[in-house]
Amino acid sequence: MTTTTPEAVGRSRPAKAPAVFDAAAARKDFPILGTLVRGKPLVYLDNAATTQKPRQVTAALVGYYETSNSNVHRGVHRLSETATRLYEGARAHVAEFIGAAEPAEIIFVRGTTEAINLVCHSWGRPNVAAGDEVIISGLEHHSNIVPWQRLCEEKGARLKVIPMNDRGELLLDEYERLFSDRTRIVAVNHVSNALGTINPVAEMAASAHARGVPLLVDGAQGLPHLGVDVRALGCDFYAFSGHKMYAPMGIGVLFGRKELLSKMPPYQSGGDMIKSVTFDRTIYNDPPHLFEAGTPNVAGAVGLDAAVAYLGGAGQDAIRRHEEEVLEYATGRLGDMEGLRIYGTAREKAGVISFTMEGVHPHDVGTILDTEGVAVRTGHHCAQPIMERFGIPATVRASFGLYNVKADVDALVAALGKVRSVFR
Ligand code: PMP
Repeated sequence: MTTTTPEAVGRSRPAKAPAVFDAAAARKDFPILGTLVRGKPLVYLDNAATTQKPRQVTAALVGYYETSNSNVHRGVHRLSETATRLYEGARAHVAEFIGAAEPAEIIFVRGTTEAINLVCHSWGRPNVAAGDEVIISGLEHHSNIVPWQRLCEEKGARLKVIPMNDRGELLLDEYERLFSDRTRIVAVNHVSNALGTINPVAEMAASAHARGVPLLVDGAQGLPHLGVDVRALGCDFYAFSGHKMYAPMGIGVLFGRKELLSKMPPYQSGGDMIKSVTFDRTIYNDPPHLFEAGTPNVAGAVGLDAAVAYLGGAGQDAIRRHEEEVLEYATGRLGDMEGLRIYGTAREKAGVISFTMEGVHPHDVGTILDTEGVAVRTGHHCAQPIMERFGIPATVRASFGLYNVKADVDALVAALGKVRSVFR
């Protein structure tokens, strides 16, 4: 068996991304999509929870472990140099992919949750005091609520929440009214994982900046569907998870503007985040290493690099158009079903349809869909305040990835027909 180095596997990006995305061809890159579940072909519609991985990503992981595995930043031997080059190369490619000014603005973390916790800890603690205010939105995932809530409790600060309308769109007039001279930061998601709403984060960043307030974007669902240019968005922090963008689990990114990162104290402490240590005094390393204490997830970064190359090669605009078409088709087909109610009907949406079926608990819907090989998520989607806003305990969520096609929607609709026949 020959093993390819991750450098060779990961970065075969064509000079120019194609204008049209060929989902049928892309499906062949994802072996899991050819498997059977309960004897039925898998219809994977749980992409908001995690995406499947293309061969290009898994080959990069295997290639890394079989040819280049070593610890980074500390060895003088060849393998350590290779691993370091791959790890720092991944950082540079991610920086380029999201439009960061330089690789030092990219911090590797476990995922979105850790990225937000890092900001709460290292930016929040020194900058938020008693009586100050933090603005989040009613559309947030728990991971962009609880860390801010804890910070506010610790500091005696106040959490203010941007409300939404019945379509699941944030009320921007209300947002403007929430600002005061005590507002310290705004934290909102790019795309809601529960409703699919795309938030106007560039506009929201401009409003915050007009008052000298920084803005963090939870991009866990934004980057996979929309791509991102952090400079065009004008955000100060952007957090995302590799596993939701076709990369491995356990790797994610916090983008932070250099100006802010350079003033933030460390998050965790230990190896790699220091320049020198004596018992009297430690001199810290510079960002991004300052925020990456301990041995990092090198293989994860290599896999993320391969996923970035994959998305870049396919063309994020082409992927977006394809996904919009599938979402529109699904919205039409589900909208035609009797007794089915869609939650989240924002004019700008990506990736997600949340719904309930009259007379059937969402968990029962999910269980019956599973017997048909259709994987969806049911529950509150780690966004309980959204469920409360709509007065429901849970929804069924079908969420789409680049490899989903209209036939997947047809399979979902057929399986929902089976749910109906069971509960008639
Ligand atoms: N924010 C949003 C909008 C999400 O969808 C998720 C994952 N469901 C997260 C944050 C948390 O991401 P992770 O679990 O990868 O840290």
